[in-house]
Amino acid sequence: MLLLVASALAAPALRLPQGAHPVREAVDLRLDPAADTFTGVVDLVVHLDAAARQLRLNGKELKVGDASVSQGGRSWPASNRVVDAETLAFTWPKALSGEVTLHVEYAGKVTALDTQGVFRQREGDADYLLSQFEPLDARRAFPCFDDPQFKVPWQLTVHVPEGNGAWSNTSMETTGQDPDGWQWSRFHETRPLPSYLIAFAAGPFVSVEAGNAGAKHVPVRLVVPPGEVAHVAWALEQTAPILEALEAWFGEPYPYDKLDIVAIPQTVGFGAMENAGMVTVNLGTMAWNPVDDEVGRRRDYVETMAHELAHQWFGDLVTPMWWDDLWLNESFASWMETKITERLFPEWRVDVARVNGRASAMDVDGLTTSRRIHEPIVVVDDIETAFDGITYAKGEAVLTMFEAYMGPDAFRAGVRAYLAAHRDGSATSGDLVAALAGALPAADDAARAELAASFRSFIDQPGVPIVSAAIDCSGAPSVRLTQERFLPAAPPDGTRWTMPVCFTVGGGGPTEWYCAMLAEPTALVPLARTPVCPKTVTLNWDSRGYYRVAWAEPELRAVLQRSDLPLDARVAVVHDAAALVAAGRLPPTALLDEIEPMLRDAPPALIRATVGVVAGLADHLVPQALRPNYRRYILRVYGPLARELGLAAPAGEDPERRRLRAPLIGLVGTYGGDPALLEAARPLAEQWLIDRSGLDPELVVPVLSLAARNGNAALYTRVLEAALVERDRGRREELLAILGAFQDPAQLASSLELVRSGQVDVRDALGLVFTPLSMPATRAAQWSLLTNDLDAFARLVPIYARGYLPYMGSVWCDAGRRAEVESLFGRRAKRWIGGPHALAQTLETIDVCIASTASQRPGVTAWLERQ
Ligand SMILES: [Zn+2]
Repeated sequence: MLLLVASALAAPALRLPQGAHPVREAVDLRLDPAADTFTGVVDLVVHLDAAARQLRLNGKELKVGDASVSQGGRSWPASNRVVDAETLAFTWPKALSGEVTLHVEYAGKVTALDTQGVFRQREGDADYLLSQFEPLDARRAFPCFDDPQFKVPWQLTVHVPEGNGAWSNTSMETTGQDPDGWQWSRFHETRPLPSYLIAFAAGPFVSVEAGNAGAKHVPVRLVVPPGEVAHVAWALEQTAPILEALEAWFGEPYPYDKLDIVAIPQTVGFGAMENAGMVTVNLGTMAWNPVDDEVGRRRDYVETMAHELAHQWFGDLVTPMWWDDLWLNESFASWMETKITERLFPEWRVDVARVNGRASAMDVDGLTTSRRIHEPIVVVDDIETAFDGITYAKGEAVLTMFEAYMGPDAFRAGVRAYLAAHRDGSATSGDLVAALAGALPAADDAARAELAASFRSFIDQPGVPIVSAAIDCSGAPSVRLTQERFLPAAPPDGTRWTMPVCFTVGGGGPTEWYCAMLAEPTALVPLARTPVCPKTVTLNWDSRGYYRVAWAEPELRAVLQRSDLPLDARVAVVHDAAALVAAGRLPPTALLDEIEPMLRDAPPALIRATVGVVAGLADHLVPQALRPNYRRYILRVYGPLARELGLAAPAGEDPERRRLRAPLIGLVGTYGGDPALLEAARPLAEQWLIDRSGLDPELVVPVLSLAARNGNAALYTRVLEAALVERDRGRREELLAILGAFQDPAQLASSLELVRSGQVDVRDALGLVFTPLSMPATRAAQWSLLTNDLDAFARLVPIYARGYLPYMGSVWCDAGRRAEVESLFGRRAKRWIGGPHALAQTLETIDVCIASTASQRPGVTAWLERQ
């Protein structure tokens, strides 16, 4: 019966029909954090463009009771019906046009597993209820025009049972008590907002005052469960300075009347949300016990808050017209997150993080299945899959490139003009590109057109270019630039970009810096300031370009040893080199031979980049017979560095040096099997499990993981006991992930059973489930355990996480497993949101791996034999 009803309904419409738009909406909600349902009343003022007796609104899993429509003091009853899973239709007897008010009483559902729509969570011994609407879940909370092109004032009233408080986008206007003892709070009407940015929270939260911030002295509060009040020292100190740094960049005050940072005990699939005036964030990101205070957590909070607060202007004040322009929000906020963090904490070297993020975007962008930044939305799945590394990391890298090309002042002027032109409204990619181009000198129409064309070539087509440069002195000194699409396992497909390419030339005179706009497959750039033929050309010297450099082997070997290059550029060269080797364009030795000499006096970030290269070999390229050689190399090259760093972090240590310890311990301990390190790790781990002493917070995970890889049943039990009683969610997730580092098949099975039986919350246990898949030693065993009853496991995870499950197949690298992944997920992925895209990317990742290991194997084997 249920199936019959479902199939009788039309496929959900992506957007509501034209002919009506919202004017303002008032929402009155009764929210009991302990209940599975809630009730609401909305009064929605709508403008009907022509005489109509019907209005369609978004509404999902809402049970509508009484409804009526009114105009000019008269009122008519309205009937309603479900049009499809996303849409309700309201019908009334008399044709009306102009402004009417639709009054709807209804009930909705509260979810307990997902963090979408209206959801509740238990923390300590209390229940909390919150909302998360982006992209399409406001319709689960109230009937509305759930489409970002519509921005209207909203007025919320929230009723909660005694003992609970309520929070929303604006400050409270009035409060009172219902006859049944419930407390109600009416919030001030908002500035114009789209439905997806409306938010509320209810529960026994505590508001911690964090002072006033910014030009308008807006009050800032941290809203957390009572047990966390003593754990928000860092957030208390940092939130206002982040907001003020953003105001300085945007050149205008924070747009809303207050700022609450509200903790979600456990987020699924996202870390934080930029609701206007009420940012929600995963509890572990904003609160931690002082004994767990680590640079990583501090940094995570600053980056997350810089991102969400940047959205208050870019996303909230000016909103994308539709989800094909989600990148306007996310690329920009990611870019701003790096910019603000760099300004406030230069010692964290986020310039290197920026290059690492760019490299990971390029890895995805090297697939033929990669999305475009500005991707048309054809089905609902396209909206969900838009929240990916292309939208965030590639978008950030592309904005970085254009900021460098335009100059930071012109770029900022363009963004400010865009905000000024669309304040409180919605805008498109075209509007941003036009505003940026408009910030170039007015006389230079050609440069403006070129910038717009360049932008379009990066946002409207997928893929990453690869650029080569060759000195040509057959005439006047010149450099010949050539571009094509970089596809590691497929031939170039003819894609062309209009792209800014910058390089230095040297060796014939003083080093000179040149930039050109490369629009053709190949172009000759004259070196006007270099009269003598130069000897060297170095592309992407500032690492701002979004392209790979096609290094020839001798030049690559030379540049890898150049300590005069900026650190981010050196790290970028390592990433490019690894990609060229993986694509079979260079022999593996072109990079591997250079690592040992590079490491002399290398900065920590560069050492970390090489650790990634060497550890990456373990996955599919170290034959059993050559494991001793691999271990010998690691111990010889990285052992001394690991010993020098030691297992204790002195106070005041450089944060970059501190961050090097975990990857080095992982490499030297796990893949190098260093007996001294293993010997040292075990007692430290045991001591920490007894009384949480003896280990710096940053070292808890690497040291316990190392002990676990070689651990026995007794240690397993102690880690499990520690995880079960751990109150800090972040630490609990880490301890559960450490259980996944034990290698005994029986331990793997009992770990998974903990999840299947519900003894541990699957949302805390993703590390426990997926860590064994990432390790060659436990991969096959864990895969069997997980896939024996994949449907049962899929039912356990939140709905929005299911679509990611196909990605677990991307650990494989052979044709047999590829076929297995395809048959396991082929049918299932179609039922999961974003599943088909995840499966296509996984299968292509396996294909790339198969091709890459085949081309690298002879070279890596010969290199290992020499170690
Ligand atoms: Zn964002």
